[in-house]
Amino acid sequence: MRIGAIADDLTGATDLGLMFARAGLKVMQCVGVPFATSGLEDAQAIIVSLKTRTVSAAEAVAQSLEALAFLQAAGADRFLFKYCSTFDSTDEGNIGPVIDALMERLGETRTIACPAMPANGRTVYQGHLFVGTQLLSESPMKDHPLTPMRDANLVRVLQRQTARPVSLVSHALVAEGGSALEFALDGISGMAVVDAIDEVDLVRIGKAARDLRLLTGGSGIGLGMAANFPAAELAGEPVVMAPAPGKGVILAGSCSAATRRQIAAAVAAGVPAMRVMPQALAGRTLTVEHALAFVAVNAGGLPPILYSSAEPDEIAAVQAVMGREEAGALVENFLGDVARALLERGTTRFVVAGGETSGAVTHALGARTLVIGPEIDPGVPWTTFVHEGRIIALALKSGNFGADDFFLKAWELLA
Ligand code: ADP
Repeated sequence: MRIGAIADDLTGATDLGLMFARAGLKVMQCVGVPFATSGLEDAQAIIVSLKTRTVSAAEAVAQSLEALAFLQAAGADRFLFKYCSTFDSTDEGNIGPVIDALMERLGETRTIACPAMPANGRTVYQGHLFVGTQLLSESPMKDHPLTPMRDANLVRVLQRQTARPVSLVSHALVAEGGSALEFALDGISGMAVVDAIDEVDLVRIGKAARDLRLLTGGSGIGLGMAANFPAAELAGEPVVMAPAPGKGVILAGSCSAATRRQIAAAVAAGVPAMRVMPQALAGRTLTVEHALAFVAVNAGGLPPILYSSAEPDEIAAVQAVMGREEAGALVENFLGDVARALLERGTTRFVVAGGETSGAVTHALGARTLVIGPEIDPGVPWTTFVHEGRIIALALKSGNFGADDFFLKAWELLA
C-alpha cells in the first residue's frame, strides 16, 4: 500500500506529512508536481503540495489531475485530497470541483469529506464544522479575505460546489465504527461529509474506508489512513534532525495574531530583530545587503529574526497606498531573496512564518523535496532538503499555528 496525497497548499501539506510521520510512515513531500519519480521508492506516503486553494476552479482541477497522474506513476494506490480543516473554499470551489475531477479520473462513485482536525480544535458534528467552541460561521473564518466561511453546514457548503449528491454520515455511526460504519460508507452515492470529533473517530473512519481509493479531508484523516498499515511496516517516532553545521534565521511575513505574539516573545527573550516594511523596500532604504549585514552582525547568539508582520491598521494603511498584492509581493520576494542569499552564505536552518511567505521562501531556496522530521508544535514539523550535498533544515509555520515561544524552542529539536 502506498498513499498518494494532493494538498491544496504548502503548509497544509507539511501538516499532513507530520501526521503520517507521527504514525510511523516514511513520508516524502514534493513542492509542486515533480518531473520524475526517482528518489521516492522508499516512501510509504508521497505528498504533492500545490497552491490551488484560491486559484480558479479550472486551474485547481488541472493541477490536481496532473498531481494525481504523477502519484499514480509513483505507485500510489490510495489517494487523499487534502484541504484546510476550516474547509476554505467559495461556492465556486475549489473543493467540490477537484473532488469531482479526481473521482471521475479514478473511476470512483463515492468518497468522503472529513476535514476534522481535533488536535487544532476543528471538529465536525452532524455535518457542522466547529472551530474550538464556535461554529465555523461564527469563527474569525467568517471574515477571511479570500474564502469567507458563512455557513457551518458542510453538507450544504459542499453541495453548492458539486452536481453529485452530498449526504451525511453522522457521529452515531462513526462512534459505532466497525461493520456499521463500513455499511454506511458502502451506501454513499457521490460524496458524504463524515462527522469526527476526536482522533479515535478518525482512526475508525480510516479503517472503515480502507477500500476506498479516494478520501478527502484535512490532515486528521491522514491518521486514519496510516492506521491501515501493518505495525511491522511502521517506523518509530521521528528522530532529531541533523542539518549541516551553520547558522539559523527566522523569516516572518505572517501578520496573524499568533505570529505577532511569537515575535514579541522572541524579542523579549533577546532575539535580534529587524523590521521589514514594504515602504522601505519600495523606497530601497532597505535592501538585501542591509539584511545580510544585520544577520552577519548578529551571528553570535540566538538566531535573528526578520519580520514584516504588522498590526491590521498599519497593513491597511500600506495597502491603501501600495495595493494589497503589490505590498504582499514586495515582502514575499524580499524574504525569498534574503533566504537565498543566506543559503549561499552558509545558513543551514530556516524558520519561516506565513503560508504565502513559506511558498515564496521555499521556492527561492529551491527546495523541491522535503523530508518530514520532528514536530515543533501541532501541525508544524521541521523538514529537510538537500542543497549542493548539504542537509538544510526548514520549518514552515502557517500564520496562526504554534505557541508563543515557537521561535525560541524550534532550534532545540535540531542536532
Ligand atoms: P498567514 O499564514 O498568516 O496568512 P501569509 O504569509 O500567508 O501569512 O500571508 C501574509 C501576507 O501578507 C503575505 O503576502 C505577506 O507578504 C503580506 N504582508 C506581510 N507583511 C506585510 C505588511 N507589513 N504590509 C502589507 N502586507 C504584508
